[in-house]
Amino acid sequence: MSMLEVEGLDVHYGAIQALRGVSLKVEEGQVVTLVGSNGAGKTTTLRALSGLVRPSRGSIKFLGRQLVGQAPESIVRLGMAHSPEGRGVFPQLSVRENLELGGYIRNDSLDDDVEKAFVRFPRLRERSTQLAGTLSGGEQQMLAVVRALMSRPRLLLLDEPSLGLAPQIVQQIFAIIGELNREGMTILLVEQNALMALRCAHVGYVLETGEVCTSGDARALAETDAVKKAYLGIA
Ligand code: ATP
Repeated sequence: MSMLEVEGLDVHYGAIQALRGVSLKVEEGQVVTLVGSNGAGKTTTLRALSGLVRPSRGSIKFLGRQLVGQAPESIVRLGMAHSPEGRGVFPQLSVRENLELGGYIRNDSLDDDVEKAFVRFPRLRERSTQLAGTLSGGEQQMLAVVRALMSRPRLLLLDEPSLGLAPQIVQQIFAIIGELNREGMTILLVEQNALMALRCAHVGYVLETGEVCTSGDARALAETDAVKKAYLGIA
């Protein structure tokens, strides 16, 4: 059994069909990436997984349980955490308060995990009492990633973590993704930066206008002419 098995997912926003029969799998321990151009349906796929939009058709099995119809909070409790596009940190709360909110489903002490977050990103320790809205874009992104980890997920969903960041910060974000995976975290990564995402993932899925048009070994996918031409801007 795969950790995540998505079968034939359709999502509509009113009259707009955003996903058409999307199927994908994530095995435990993998980084799987979903790439595709603007509006291809990447964010919608993650929102369906974490219960933020309800699919009109299809099945989402996570650790053997059906997620369709479950509330976002139950899905977090089952072990899936979502770091949303646009970072979604709470600007009027401090860095520490943002981290604490990430662990709201837990009844035990969060101190060890807050400490781990600060060891991973010392800049966040320096700014722990500062309002999250005053952090730089890269720092907010790092906060969004470690905040998602506070619920101790089995599967981490990352939506466009490199969006709008300087190249050096993007490198850092991808290095962290690799590090988390080596520590055992399973990750589903949505990216417009297809080349970097495919280079760091085990498996890739390419979405085009709401449909999976190709999938397979991520490094091999990065080398296919169709992917190079359509998504990497290389003829
Ligand atoms: P991006 O990288 O721009 O976020 P994406 O691949 O994540 O793109 P989605 O955001 O999932 O794509 O959008 C898929 C389709 O659904 C697009 O046609 C988009 O315009 C539409 N869509 C997304 N959210 C909504 C919404 N709330 N209401 C109506 N249409 C929406």
